[in-house]
Amino acid sequence: MKNLRLAVRESRPRTVIDVCGVAVGRDFVVIAGPCSVESEEQMMASARAVKAAGADMLRGGAFKPRTSPYAFQGLGLRGLKLLARAGRETGLPIVTEVIDPRDVSWVAEFADVLQIGTRNMQNFSLLKEVGRTGRPVLLKRGMYSTLEEWLNCAEYILSEGNPNVILCERGIRTFERYTRNTLDLSAVPAIKELTHLPIIIDPTHSTGRLSLIPPMSVAAVAAGADGLIIEVHHRPEEALCDAAQALTPAMFTDLMGRLRPLCNFMDGLPE
Ligand code: PEP
Ligand code: MN
Repeated sequence: MKNLRLAVRESRPRTVIDVCGVAVGRDFVVIAGPCSVESEEQMMASARAVKAAGADMLRGGAFKPRTSPYAFQGLGLRGLKLLARAGRETGLPIVTEVIDPRDVSWVAEFADVLQIGTRNMQNFSLLKEVGRTGRPVLLKRGMYSTLEEWLNCAEYILSEGNPNVILCERGIRTFERYTRNTLDLSAVPAIKELTHLPIIIDPTHSTGRLSLIPPMSVAAVAAGADGLIIEVHHRPEEALCDAAQALTPAMFTDLMGRLRPLCNFMDGLPE
């Protein structure tokens, strides 16, 4: 791969990123929570539910990059405060998206992991800005991007001095319309060949279909992914964003129960 210096595997050991005691890249990590932070009640109930089911980190968007300017854009600072409170009360580190370079420094004061969404993967000034913080970054693959373009974006963050980059495959655009995107699971072993960085799978945005989230989560574990990021809402029918693809707490609990023995089995396999 051209121009990669810090992201390439070569003889480097695999990167393990410590997020408040959660070892991403060593242990299988599940990040769960609603698409967006909507209210105190919604955030607290969803956070308690994912914690009870065994999630390792809590997600929630306070800045939503929406296709329409008229769609719910997120609660901003108020949302971050609610997310931070839910994180504190459950003891879960929090993951949240930042969409504007001007917001990075203050959002980093709340977030344990800064998420760069698919639409901003090649927002180079945003990448440089998160590269200058000490916060771990969850870098989603651009929906129209090759692995090489994606890894070059990781390189932007690494070259600014931030070694804590977690890659996230969230599906790419193909001609298929039945699924919201097409989950490129081959990205997992390919990324493991090419780089030392951890990679997690987003079965929610890649499929956009409730029925496909559990089987693709299982497939992600089998493919060797380092974790999952899954949308869970305490009352999906009331969600202001991505309602059709949010798991209920019961569905998420059931999925976690299926993933646990599979993770143990995978741990026992030789590399
Ligand atoms: C999200 O995770 O909230 C999100 C907007 O995802 P993506 O950037 O992958 O569409
Ligand atoms: Mn979403």
